[in-house]
Amino acid sequence: MVLDTQQNVVALAGGVGGAKLVYGLSQVVPPERFTVIGNVADDFDLYGLHISPDLDTVMYTLAGVANPATGWGVADDTWNMLDMLDRYGEDVWFRLGDRDVATHVLRTMWLNEGHTLTEITARLLERLGVRCQLLPVTDDPVHTLIDTLEHGTLGFQDYFVRHRWQPTVRRVWYRYAEQACMTDAVAGALSDADVIIFCPSNPVLSIDPLLVVPGVREAITARQGVCVAVSPFIGGKAVKGPAAKLMGELGLDISPCGLCQYYAGLLDGLVIDTSDQDQPPAEGIPRLVTQTLMQSSEDKIRLAGDVIDWVGRLVA
Ligand code: GDP
Ligand code: CA
Repeated sequence: MVLDTQQNVVALAGGVGGAKLVYGLSQVVPPERFTVIGNVADDFDLYGLHISPDLDTVMYTLAGVANPATGWGVADDTWNMLDMLDRYGEDVWFRLGDRDVATHVLRTMWLNEGHTLTEITARLLERLGVRCQLLPVTDDPVHTLIDTLEHGTLGFQDYFVRHRWQPTVRRVWYRYAEQACMTDAVAGALSDADVIIFCPSNPVLSIDPLLVVPGVREAITARQGVCVAVSPFIGGKAVKGPAAKLMGELGLDISPCGLCQYYAGLLDGLVIDTSDQDQPPAEGIPRLVTQTLMQSSEDKIRLAGDVIDWVGRLVA
């Protein structure tokens, strides 16, 4: 099913949670009308390779090659390179599959040749046969840093992968964000967007590092169109990962009202799960109550269709 829509849809997405809705949207919005803006604040270098975990998760999902069991990495991947690194006595704390490494090798080679992350991402998508756009929010480095009670300040992957997001978080910030430039492609996509959808990604670790890049918030609020968020919380809990734990530790409220406060001044609507329908509404923000748990492809396409239908009615 592809909706007969003339509207330009832009999705803001992080990794695994965001990619689920991105997949659904890619099945209901024509590719030339659909753009994803992706997070680069989880990017890091390992073994001399530049890794962009969130861009890759979205790209593999759009290309239909994502590992269905994990939501990240490539389907049917093998671990020979990691086994050999282990044999050399390296601490192989970050899982890098053999097929996945091909992406990082090409990305790093092209970066070293002077291409931008935007150009490289477009090239990788094209070669994988993906027709919609995936735009890194910036070509400049931005790094999520996490101050923890137990280990002091940790880089994102140290917190998330090495320590399995167990440390108690005291503060999150995005190093170099103030100096980062929103790309022209992102500025163009946002200004042309009729509909902007914040995917059910981690608000602090995935969506905020997009919003803190100078110009992004302004570009969202400057338009006529609508901007809605799909809640990553179901029954007051994160479906997966640290979102609820971390937001609680930061003193943030994970209710629908709390989410509207977190995205204050940006939202024209909020999509919440049926299990949260008794939560008090946020004043002045329309909401769609529907099933937001996405397990199968059908769930993802159905939720994307519901959101697009509802947004169409919000605009009318
Ligand atoms: P990451 O970058 O890989 O950590 O992924 P994201 O930030 O994009 O997504 C993480 C968020 O996705 C978590 O807060 C989860 O609660 C949320 N999430 C995962 N699966 C689902 C789902 O099926 N439905 C909803 N509503 N949220 C989900
Ligand atoms: Ca991420």
